Amino acid sequence: MEVDYIIVGQGLSGSFLSSKLFKAGKKIVVIDDASPNVASKIASGVINPVTGRRIVSTWMIENLLPYSFEAYTEFGTDLNATLITQKNILDFHPTLQMQLAFKDKIPVENNYLRCNERESELKDFFNFNYGVGEINPCYLIDVSLLITEWRKQLSSRKILIEEEFITDDLTIINHDSEGEESVEYRGIKAKKVIFCDGAKGVANPWFKLLPYAKNKGEALIVEIDGLPRNNIYKHGLSLVPWKENLWWIGSTYDWNFSDLNPTAIFRIKAEQTLQHWVKLPYKVVGHLATERPANLERRPFVGLHPIYSSIGILNGMGTKGCSLVPYFSNELTANLLYNTPINPLADVQRFRKILSRAI
Ligand SMILES: Cc1cc2nc3c(=O)[nH]c(=O)nc-3n(C[C@H](O)[C@H](O)[C@H](O)COP(=O)(O)OP(=O)(O)OC[C@H]3O[C@@H](n4cnc5c(N)ncnc54)[C@H](O)[C@@H]3O)c2cc1C
Repeated sequence: MEVDYIIVGQGLSGSFLSSKLFKAGKKIVVIDDASPNVASKIASGVINPVTGRRIVSTWMIENLLPYSFEAYTEFGTDLNATLITQKNILDFHPTLQMQLAFKDKIPVENNYLRCNERESELKDFFNFNYGVGEINPCYLIDVSLLITEWRKQLSSRKILIEEEFITDDLTIINHDSEGEESVEYRGIKAKKVIFCDGAKGVANPWFKLLPYAKNKGEALIVEIDGLPRNNIYKHGLSLVPWKENLWWIGSTYDWNFSDLNPTAIFRIKAEQTLQHWVKLPYKVVGHLATERPANLERRPFVGLHPIYSSIGILNGMGTKGCSLVPYFSNELTANLLYNTPINPLADVQRFRKILSRAI
């Protein structure tokens, strides 16, 4: 078998990249191990344009937000599925200080922050003392649906291999000779292999020296009947509409962890939040936990390896994959097809020195 690109991983990154290369007429094959416990399958799927206790716009959001809207709408049309809906965040201020900080930020972040006019309606559903601000626009992405539907298409075209990619079985051809470098993997010849392997990328021999800093996140899945599903609610934790009548409540950002198991500590914290905050009864039906492919710089890793021109990466999406992946999968596709530049803050070439030491 001969293809243009082998893509390793079909999370959000591998799905967008493979679909873009496929639409550009390239011959691709996607290899994914169907692991259920990966970031893309556990993420709530929120695109929130502001971040942190200081409530500031996230990196490049003025480009990423409109780009994401177009990209998910287009992908949804291709998959005959609704992948993106606007669901603004109603931010319940936990303290008077946070309420004042939010109000102070409204004139500064006036593209995204608003006073909420409907506090009296919210009293039917929530207990709160310090008012509610609105972050608008925010979007909710159905990441599971995107992955499932695109996987069906890959499978029906017979360009999906459902197994673990073993890096030891990859041979690089013509690395030190005149001809164009290429790769071969278990009988598949390809011009390039692109790793979209998420948190497992920390063990990837070509990219393991990148400054990954894996981060664990947990969420409870709960049933709450009667809570209006037109918003995302935030009170320290986020309460996000999930499948059917379910809600996703999370998350933690844990930098020190010994395993990926759900913890009793998080379950207690989330249940305490629900008990104090939500007036409606709830029932816990699931508890999810996994790691995010985060890194010290909080910027993605995008592009070709500085030493091996047949090996590339789309990774390091951290806590913001839903907004970063559409944009940077597009930059990587354009770079592969037309050699256009990648944003230097995301281009993996910025690690040329350190990656020269790999392998
Ligand atoms: C609890 C939690 C909540 C989150 N909430 C949000 C949110 O609301 N908004 C947001 O923007 N981001 C959120 N994120 C972050 C987001 O999930 C990630 O940024 C994004 O999903 C990363 O996608 P990815 O495709 O790069 O990696 P992954 O999702 O990790 O996908 C990698 C894929 O590669 C496969 N793979 C890896 N190695 C191999 C191999 N050797 N062989 C074959 N297959 C392989 C894996 O099985 C997987 O399918 C959240 C993350 C967590 C954990």
